[in-house]
Amino acid sequence: MRKRLDIAIAGAGIGGLSLGTLLVRAGHRVRIFDQFESPKPIGSGLMLQQTGLAVLEQLGLRAEIDALGTRIERLWGLTTPSLRPVLDVRYSKWRSDVYGLGVQRGLVFDALYTAAQEAGVEVTLDAPVAAAESSGPELVLENGEKITGLDLAVYAHGARSTLTPKDRGVDLPYGALWATLPWPDTSPFDATALEQRYHKASQMTGVMPSGRLSTEAPETLTYFWSIRGDAEEAWRARDLDAWKEEAAALWPETEQLMGHFQGHDDLTFARYRHHTSKEPIAGRGFARIGDAWHAASPQLGQGANMALLDAWALAKAIETASDMSEALQVYLRLRRGHVRLYQLMTWLFTPVYQGDSRILPWLRDWLAAPLSTIWPAPQILAAMVSGAIGNPLRRLKLK
Ligand SMILES: Cc1cc2nc3c(=O)[nH]c(=O)nc-3n(C[C@H](O)[C@H](O)[C@H](O)COP(=O)(O)OP(=O)(O)OC[C@H]3O[C@@H](n4cnc5c(N)ncnc54)[C@H](O)[C@@H]3O)c2cc1C
Repeated sequence: MRKRLDIAIAGAGIGGLSLGTLLVRAGHRVRIFDQFESPKPIGSGLMLQQTGLAVLEQLGLRAEIDALGTRIERLWGLTTPSLRPVLDVRYSKWRSDVYGLGVQRGLVFDALYTAAQEAGVEVTLDAPVAAAESSGPELVLENGEKITGLDLAVYAHGARSTLTPKDRGVDLPYGALWATLPWPDTSPFDATALEQRYHKASQMTGVMPSGRLSTEAPETLTYFWSIRGDAEEAWRARDLDAWKEEAAALWPETEQLMGHFQGHDDLTFARYRHHTSKEPIAGRGFARIGDAWHAASPQLGQGANMALLDAWALAKAIETASDMSEALQVYLRLRRGHVRLYQLMTWLFTPVYQGDSRILPWLRDWLAAPLSTIWPAPQILAAMVSGAIGNPLRRLKLK
């Protein structure tokens, strides 16, 4: 579209900031409204895949993020007490040039926030959005102010917003406690792998190398301990030392990390949610991107990457279409298949690693794990974790 469009976005997260930057660089006016009083990332360390990295490259941010993140070549999980491998995904089995990148969320957020500001995106903080009208289109802020005269209103408010209570999907039974810690001097962990240990599917712990925030800052890892969503309160009421013993019993090498936990608040709980909105686009000018369209457990590590792909797809659709209705249809065509596929795969995979079933982990350990080593399973698994099933990069002309 040639004319200068007026666009408002609810949510200055990974998706909202990327979309805003791309659209302002294309000559449009973009206003982003976020509920936060000061800019900040929400959540744990992140694993970026080649999909998200391709969009960060278009934004001119990949080199900086690549330099500070840690390259992950393998996802490696052992079941206890036998220490049999039940997850072994090596990116190189699919393509030698592909890797995951373990990063601190703050690194990606700061890069995106700075890029948005430098591009001229107008970000208003402490401005929670209460609703959007697709017919206007317009955004309505919680303080009653209406942002009208828009060409497009975008929901990019993430998975846990109160903005769309009817459309919030289901809380998954499990979530995780997590913390970002300094990488130990004498580390028993593999600096090129995301490692996990499981007992059935009801206990899971993991360590992901998560790079550093700046060249001067220390290397880090992100530690995870999975718990049921309804068990958080009981965990908080429990003696922390008793939990530390339990955690170290599942993976003895993590005992040296336990000294970082002096109180329950040194770990943050994230509850996972699964939903796919039935209305990713609506009316003359309304779209959803990222978790506001499709939220899932981070088991396959795709959410941030998907938000980046959505932002790129919507910006490209707006650039090439002749009007907004056409742009929204193009956006949907570009993303719907990939979103459906990964929502389904994540839904199927999550209970195999985090859940109360006795049968699923048994099938995982004795059937799926041996089969996963036989051609072409290693290649398919590596492509799946890279976000490449459905060929989203070719579809979006990102390669
Ligand atoms: C523990 C954990 C680990 C994860 N690990 C990975 C991983 O390894 N790899 C990966 O790709 N993904 C991972 N994810 C998923 C990933 O974090 C999300 O998919 C991604 O952040 C979605 O981006 P988004 O822009 O849609 O939303 P967010 O990044 O969540 O941003 C939403 C923004 O909207 C704002 N907002 C909310 N409500 C309102 C409102 N009413 N008005 C205005 N603003 C509002 C929020 O303040 C926030 O700034 C993980 C998630 C969790 C919880």
